[in-house]
Amino acid sequence: MKTLIAANWKMHGNLSWVQKSAEFRALFPAKSKNISILLCPPAHMLEAMARASEGLDISVGAQNCHDQATGTYTGELSAAMVAETGATYVILGHSERRASFGDTDSWVATKTSAVQKAGLKPIVCVGESRTEREAGHAEEVVGSQLAGSIPADADGRNLVIAYEPVWAIGTGLTPTIEDIATIHDHIRGCLTTRFGAKVADKIQILYGGSVKPENAKEILALKDVAGALIGGAGLDMKSLAAIAALV
Ligand code: PEP
Repeated sequence: MKTLIAANWKMHGNLSWVQKSAEFRALFPAKSKNISILLCPPAHMLEAMARASEGLDISVGAQNCHDQATGTYTGELSAAMVAETGATYVILGHSERRASFGDTDSWVATKTSAVQKAGLKPIVCVGESRTEREAGHAEEVVGSQLAGSIPADADGRNLVIAYEPVWAIGTGLTPTIEDIATIHDHIRGCLTTRFGAKVADKIQILYGGSVKPENAKEILALKDVAGALIGGAGLDMKSLAAIAALV
């Protein structure tokens, strides 16, 4: 399975950033057998990015979508609309959306269902807060988020999970390597209970939270870490390429 290096640009950039996929390829030219690159720009860039990235073996993803197919949902995009842009992934349940835009576990679940039905691949984000970690509840919180955010009709063969401790996002802090390994192992266990080992073993579990060229090697070497979801360091193609080079 290829290691997935995914950049979440959040609400950064403008249309000129479409050229960043070519910039990345110039820095990291090999059509690597073991790395997939995914760029998740703001929605207004999706179509142009998907077109610009096609010949470069770079996938494009959205940062969210709505669970309904159509309707009076001002400001929202359906999964089918995302698919029309040429994007192939959708990040769902990012902690910033959970904190500020009302994305609950059950809403993430219905979004996940919609995304899979539209033929796209969901990246479902889970992760504990600092208080939850300090109270020793990280595994329990992540297990409960997984149970609530993966819908009953989910296809485990078309699913990516991202473990992103909230306190590590954009802070420069990361859990210890042992803690990352423990949670990823726990996530694998939850997925095995849900889907059975044959399917669960193939689900990619990404780590996200202050991944940089300085710490990526150790994190990406962990057995159950199949890639990274990267915020800040993914805005700069030099640092994204430096991370990819560590795989
Ligand atoms: C993120 O927002 O998903 C993220 C991991 O951000 P950063 O890499 O900046 O911590």
